[in-house]
Amino acid sequence: MKSIYFLGECMVELKPTEPGLLKQSFAGDVFNSAVYLKRTFKDIKTGFTSVMGTDNLSRQMFDVLLEEGIDTNTIYTNPERTLGLYYIETDHTGERSFTYWRNQSAARTIVKYLDDSALTVLGEADYVFVSGISLAVIAPEQRELFWQKLELLKDQGVAIIFDPNYRARLWASEDEAKAQFTKALEFADIVMPGVEDFTALYDIHTAEALLEFCKPFQIQEIIIKNGPGVVISHYAGETQQHTITPVKNVVDTTSAGDAFNGVYLGARLSGQSIADAVVIAAKAAGTVIQFPGAIIPAQDYANVMLG
Ligand code: ADP
Repeated sequence: MKSIYFLGECMVELKPTEPGLLKQSFAGDVFNSAVYLKRTFKDIKTGFTSVMGTDNLSRQMFDVLLEEGIDTNTIYTNPERTLGLYYIETDHTGERSFTYWRNQSAARTIVKYLDDSALTVLGEADYVFVSGISLAVIAPEQRELFWQKLELLKDQGVAIIFDPNYRARLWASEDEAKAQFTKALEFADIVMPGVEDFTALYDIHTAEALLEFCKPFQIQEIIIKNGPGVVISHYAGETQQHTITPVKNVVDTTSAGDAFNGVYLGARLSGQSIADAVVIAAKAAGTVIQFPGAIIPAQDYANVMLG
């Protein structure tokens, strides 16, 4: 059985539904990817690697992972901490704004739990996925150790997947983010950036320019996303352009890139070509943006994707 682990943070999401009422759910970039991968490819062992608390809310998140069929054998508990939290609000123009309480989240302590037994589990996976958000939330003084752990996984034959998912407010400075991104680009076997990730940091505005930026690194497979724009792939010296059919009734683009990443990697692990993997990944992302929220109801997803 092919397998992939997504390493990072899942948070509690609070969203107003009507005055005085908040709807609670769970979301986070790598968590979203894991959910959509597993919903689409049941035969791929999909794990989430993270830390939660021992409180009820943490347990609820754990139950969601179980419900979604996600492997929890690399979920650790830190009794002194709990989940991070964010509040998402949409104004009358459709513009979203976020308020976060995540500085003390349990997930930030992940490096402490990556001991020999964790590395043995992860070392048996085909892929381990890390995003720029996963990197940003690791305490700066623990990042060097984190890279050493990833190096051990690479030595065991695990392919490292990276999506920069740049979030300025999570980094102390642009230079700090750039240094970590350079390290990740040097390290990763598959890189899946969005053009926007590189606009603020590197003044890159097109998929073509981003591909040129990535080429000097020894990356096996590069997949560049650009909203409804063409997806560009680069593999074994060959560059391909993949047209995306724009969705007309976009409701909420949250987690479009996450769904794309998860489903793309699931397809690749299932032996699909890059072109076919982009088609199904784009279908998944195109489905998710027609419903509100990061994680859309499983039935709605199944109706469009598998129906
Ligand atoms: P991110 O969420 O990382 O910013 P993008 O916005 O680049 O990611 O979108 C990721 C993928 O979602 C795209 O490659 C595309 O497949 C799909 N997508 C995004 N916006 C649209 C849209 N308006 N119409 C159709 N597909 C879209």
